[in-house]
Amino acid sequence: MKTYRIACIPGDGIGKEVIPAGQEVLAALAAARGDFGFDFESFGWGGDWYRRHGAMMPADGLDALRNKDAILFGSAGDPDIPDHITLWGLRLKICQGFDQYANVRPTRILPGITTPLARCKPEDLDWVIVRENSEGEYAGVGGRAHQGHPLEVATDVSMMTRAGVERVQRFAFKLAQSRPRKKLTVITKSNAQRHAMVMWDEIAREVARDFPDVSWDKELVDAATARMVNRPASLDTIVATNLHADILSDLAAALAGSLGIAPTGNLDPERRYPSMFEPIHGSAFDIMGRGLANPIGTFWSCVMMLEYLGEDAAAAALMSAIESVTANPALHTGDLGGKAKTVDVTRAVIDCLAAGVNGNRRAA
Ligand code: ATP
Repeated sequence: MKTYRIACIPGDGIGKEVIPAGQEVLAALAAARGDFGFDFESFGWGGDWYRRHGAMMPADGLDALRNKDAILFGSAGDPDIPDHITLWGLRLKICQGFDQYANVRPTRILPGITTPLARCKPEDLDWVIVRENSEGEYAGVGGRAHQGHPLEVATDVSMMTRAGVERVQRFAFKLAQSRPRKKLTVITKSNAQRHAMVMWDEIAREVARDFPDVSWDKELVDAATARMVNRPASLDTIVATNLHADILSDLAAALAGSLGIAPTGNLDPERRYPSMFEPIHGSAFDIMGRGLANPIGTFWSCVMMLEYLGEDAAAAALMSAIESVTANPALHTGDLGGKAKTVDVTRAVIDCLAAGVNGNRRAA
């Protein structure tokens, strides 16, 4: 029986609530199916670690993760520590250290969830955003000088390489090709950013030649926000730079009902290193420690992890358990206007999994 080695990094805030819930659900899924198992190892890195050790994770932390099959991550963020330290010291250290260059963010309106878009039918919004996850605006290139003086200067240089752009666009075309509509929208800003984004557009045209069955178009990032709201059905797979996709995917999550539902995978498509799966929400300090966090974003991230591990049947079983739980308004957490607690949603998903698996066995 295959046992998957999973590193769990709850991190900060509600990450400490939703990641244990995700582990519980995965353990229940494995127990119900009986054909694979999980060996979880938890790492207490994040804000508390920083207070004790002066760093978000140990210097050799990546070595502890290197041989895992996947990483399940909660969030990094602490009211007492600057955001750039929490982000760069943990999440980006892992993403960049393991060259997880494709950040994949599926968005759908799940059963029972209301979109703020009045005229949008659930089937109109079915997107996957591919975010370039290793360079661009978040390459970390830049600096500050003359701090505190009137001539203080600061730069953040967006850096795009031909190799980096080509590999993420190729990944996005391939993903678009695997989806029923075979449709890709390349987000750009080449009217104003006349160097790197022009290269980005040129590379899209070149890569497209290898995917003649994928229909694709180009959209300026500002126009894309309006298109997401006004014509959601005109989009399917979307590829964008690190910054553009960061912003568009929060908009996508809000349009699909809540930040608490949205999942993501930070993938190394070449599988040289473990990939990392996480809900897209942050630490949500306003609700932490009260059992109010919606764990659905984490559960959906677990679905992505199972697909990545090749456990497609288990992934489908978990997704259908998630959908039957979201369909019941009595199981909605506060972010969805309900009163349910993290534990209620977790228990309901586990019950559905047990019922589904037993039901399938009976049917077989
Ligand atoms: P960070 O600085 O770590 O990004 P944040 O609090 O600024 O954290 P989010 O954590 O993304 O940003 O949360 C934004 C808002 O959405 C918060 O007010 C939070 O209460 C709500 N929220 C986010 N995730 C969830 C969730 N899983 N369940 C319930 N509410 C959530």
